[in-house]
Amino acid sequence: CGIVGYIGDRDCQNTLMAGLARLEYRGYDSAGIALVDATGGMHARKRAGKLKTLADDLANTPMADGHIGIGHTRWATHGAANDTNAHPHLSCGGKLAVIHNGIIENFAELRDELKADGVEFCSETDTEVAAHLLGREYDRTGDLVAAFRNVAPRLEGAFTLLAVHADQPDVIVGARLNSPLVIGLGEGENFLGSDVAAFVEHTSKAIAVGQAQIVIVRKDAVEIVDFDGNPATADEFEVNWDA
Ligand code: GLU
Repeated sequence: CGIVGYIGDRDCQNTLMAGLARLEYRGYDSAGIALVDATGGMHARKRAGKLKTLADDLANTPMADGHIGIGHTRWATHGAANDTNAHPHLSCGGKLAVIHNGIIENFAELRDELKADGVEFCSETDTEVAAHLLGREYDRTGDLVAAFRNVAPRLEGAFTLLAVHADQPDVIVGARLNSPLVIGLGEGENFLGSDVAAFVEHTSKAIAVGQAQIVIVRKDAVEIVDFDGNPATADEFEVNWDA
């Protein structure tokens, strides 16, 4: 139900958790974050329940430091609200982390296709098909943007997807269709959110990502393309909101 992303020099875990707290008003039943550490290791933690459950867990067993990561609050549509079904969902042997808002309507046929290809599923979510499709395309192409271009047009329904791969620790890639995604532009850092509340305390410069667009977000650069890979433009605006 809520999505955040961060790339920059701040402490990633705290920045993501603060962003998720700003999205709590949307309602949710589980929460999770994933980040890539300085040595290219992927770390993910997710818990059913309130954000506090995840925060307590992180306080007990802190994650490694990282400067790129994604976070999610889930409002379950497919699969019970438990730790396993919470996001992020991992693929590529744990190197790829994916979060998703929305519903992938054609998940059953995509899951059958992946299962026939030998992919094992660990959750009951519709989201996990997106994780494994992106994982399969990443393994084929070695590039997260190419993976998104090949996968996004195959997904029906509504989605905001964000992904990070441990082998590409300088980029967050996302896509959206019928579900919102905004980018918060910082100086030497960038934010992503399902709405501006996720980052309004850090920056008021924002981009509303357009329908059927893929975003490629680095520390110092943001690129937007359509599902065919053609350069695309999205609306840049000033958040007029007293945070
Ligand atoms: N359909 C996904 C799930 O049930 C995402 C739900 C959401 O938007 O939080 O896990």
